Amino acid sequence: MKIGILALQGAFEEHAKVLDKLGVSSIQIRNLDDYQQHQSDLVGLILPGGESTTMGKLLRDQNMLLPIREAILSGLPVFGTCAGLILLAKEIASQEESHLGIMDIVVERNAYGRQLGSFYTEAECKGVGKIPMTFIRGPIISSVGEGVEILATVDEQIVAAQEQNMLVTSFHPELTDDARLHQYFINMCKEKS
Ligand code: GLN
Repeated sequence: MKIGILALQGAFEEHAKVLDKLGVSSIQIRNLDDYQQHQSDLVGLILPGGESTTMGKLLRDQNMLLPIREAILSGLPVFGTCAGLILLAKEIASQEESHLGIMDIVVERNAYGRQLGSFYTEAECKGVGKIPMTFIRGPIISSVGEGVEILATVDEQIVAAQEQNMLVTSFHPELTDDARLHQYFINMCKEKS
């Protein structure tokens, strides 16, 4: 069982370490060749935090946007954290273009503002329990479509959600010692494969 981690930019190494700790192999996907070579082995894909505009541009420049989009639409489980969440959103507030544009959510980038952009808290996450949450200039999900389940909120803002094979958080679970959310994702991958 192998999970791909998009490794164009951002916090991909940290996700690899968590998967390793949980005994799951990962493949870092840096370009279209990497993706095509491992595509048939992958049971899931992680889109890490970082800078969504840069990642979106690199995905387009390397002709990876459409193949990844199609794989997710065909059911490949995907876990988007922070910028990865923004990549998946159908709509990005005050931006004309989305990136993968497949999850039925509207997101606001840098929504916690400059002062409160980075902070730590703990909150209940449905199906997982009370977990630590590290926010780094994270987005908030300002609205969700009918098929989207809200998994966690902080200060009444949605910070984790799931729509079928797509799991997203506006915080960074890979930056804490708590691996339960990754385990939750691994379980989604096992169910699908
Ligand atoms: N602010 C970043 C963006 O808009 C996301 C921050 C993160 O991934 N930690 O892409």
